[in-house]
Amino acid sequence: MKQRYLFLIGLVVSIVLAPSCNEAKTDKVKEQKKPADDFEYIAEQFADLQILRYQVPGFEELTPQQKELVYYLYEAALCGRDIIYDQKYKHNLAIRKTLENIVNTYTGDKSTPEYGKFMEYVKRVWFSNGIHHHYSNSKFLPEFPKAYFTELVAASAAEGFPVSPSSPEFASLTGIMFDPAIDAKIVNQAANIDNVAESANNFYEGVTQKEVEAYYAKFTEGKGTKLPEYGLNTKVVKENGQVTEKVWHVGGMYTQAIEKIVFWLEKAIPLAETPEQKDALEKLVKYYHSGDVTDWDVYNTAWVKDVKSQVDVVNGFIEVYLDAIGKKGSFESVVSFKDLKATERIQAISAQAQWFEDNSPLFPEHKKEVVKGIEAKVITVVVESGDAAPSTPIGINLPNNNWVREEKGSKSVSLGNIVHSYNEAKTKGSALDEFGCDEKVIKRIKQYGALASDLHTDMHEVIGHASGKINPGVGTPDKTLIQYASTLEEARADLVALYYILDPKLIEIGVMNTLDVGKAEYDSYIMNGLITQLTRIKLGDEIEEAHMRNRQLVAKWAYEKGKPENVIEFFQRDGKTFVRVNDYTKLRALFGELLKEIQRIKSEGDFMAGQSLVETYGVKVDQVLHKEILERYAKLNLAPYSGFIQPKLVAVYEGEKIVDVKVEYPKDFTEQMLEYSKNYSFLPVYN
Ligand code: ZN
Repeated sequence: MKQRYLFLIGLVVSIVLAPSCNEAKTDKVKEQKKPADDFEYIAEQFADLQILRYQVPGFEELTPQQKELVYYLYEAALCGRDIIYDQKYKHNLAIRKTLENIVNTYTGDKSTPEYGKFMEYVKRVWFSNGIHHHYSNSKFLPEFPKAYFTELVAASAAEGFPVSPSSPEFASLTGIMFDPAIDAKIVNQAANIDNVAESANNFYEGVTQKEVEAYYAKFTEGKGTKLPEYGLNTKVVKENGQVTEKVWHVGGMYTQAIEKIVFWLEKAIPLAETPEQKDALEKLVKYYHSGDVTDWDVYNTAWVKDVKSQVDVVNGFIEVYLDAIGKKGSFESVVSFKDLKATERIQAISAQAQWFEDNSPLFPEHKKEVVKGIEAKVITVVVESGDAAPSTPIGINLPNNNWVREEKGSKSVSLGNIVHSYNEAKTKGSALDEFGCDEKVIKRIKQYGALASDLHTDMHEVIGHASGKINPGVGTPDKTLIQYASTLEEARADLVALYYILDPKLIEIGVMNTLDVGKAEYDSYIMNGLITQLTRIKLGDEIEEAHMRNRQLVAKWAYEKGKPENVIEFFQRDGKTFVRVNDYTKLRALFGELLKEIQRIKSEGDFMAGQSLVETYGVKVDQVLHKEILERYAKLNLAPYSGFIQPKLVAVYEGEKIVDVKVEYPKDFTEQMLEYSKNYSFLPVYN
């Protein structure tokens, strides 16, 4: 699972590293603020997007062998870039290549407002890895006339288009771009529809949700609970009337890209830092060859054992958020090395995992007797690709397969340099000043918000996803809770973090020095869940994305249940709506109560209760409030979403041998996207 950046509001500029266990905490926290540097964190802003940059501190200190290893993993990551485009939507690669041909060869005037709008559209496509919004999953449309597009095409090199401009296929591509009715949603999770057929993603073709569910039922029925993630790396199609799968592996679908990934992974193997890392990389290669999801579990079992290496990599078909029924893994890769200093904070929490489980508000029968193998660390990211870029998670907890997590353990990471960059880039306070309910709350968030955010992320990943157990005989959540599984799982992890961030235990273990950190988190979370996150969706739309649904579910449920005691209140000031937390202790108790209920739903596989929670609290939007929030937000002229230009690694060769690897920080998003498309386009436009 991954955790995204939570806050729209301005936060403290520097990431604050909490000391792990010692006195004089206040002073130490202040001292450890990193000094401001002159690195430019913000590259540009367009549409609802902001393009940021991040640094890779500590790269120079890696050994030559580590640098070379990182370089090969970096290449392997980028080689999979095309896959995510095709997975999201089968016309994405054809559209991207069409647009890029215009960018590269158009001979007309590039200084006109229409061309500006054209470039904005192209950059949005790059940002979202396709023509559907990376966060809302709804199609966005060009803001220039269709006739202008025809002009652009006519004045560009005809031979460079992936589909001939004079063909009916090209006309249909243009229709897809401009007609809002065609394939409007990449993933449609509305109730009472065929979620498979109504989603535009490229995971299924010509099959209904019923057929897909029946197809997978035969793999799982009566086979126990230690099952692989069936369907994770396949597209389901119908051939000769039979439902079947096209597997993503060497020799199968996406082989052109996967072969390149394997090529670089194989170069990385001899440079592995530890026998465990070598073993894991070999098993990843084996899985990419076989395409057998059992091999994926074998790989993950080896990967969680690799805890001593400083360099690490996530590379595979992993998160299932893009599939309405939560089976298909999107390609992603994150290459990183451990940030040794910051890891102390997260490990202080991890070391207490059993205490947190024992003292949680869960029903005793839903608690884990032994919480195992939580390997938590802060990482410094070197490159991200696929579903993890340009928009990025800030925390990752893998593997996703429940039985592997429970028996073999899991790794939880916080993406330290990414979070640092976010915090640097936040305009200091403008959105917070607009939406914060009063001066005291605003001041507290400015003072403690960054640390609160770090701790929330740490606990969400390290003790949140790792908590609780499923009752014997109950299937995995993707089977029992289906389209609500992701939202409920994220809510569960958030609630563990929220419950404990107001616990004196955190002061005791030295990760914070005042409960004001917890209060700042409650203020931020409630304000975000009830108000500010609405800036991310269009007026009239309901909430679709799992993390957003989870946040509103948690905040709204607490608001409704706390009403008799006025725990949270909405109020008006100068004609504007605000929300205020009146009683932090009672709110904490409510979070505990909801956590217990959501764990019960997961443990018992109670679909009806899960559906009712999500649909009642997580989906619907108050139109009047939404309109007001959007108007106030528009005046701030901020972009609600951010993504990153990736650092670039340059290998220095002497003959055949790499003698050094240097890191560069490109400044131009368009240049990077064109360079990636030139160097890493391995897939044909239709697979
Ligand atoms: Zn999560």
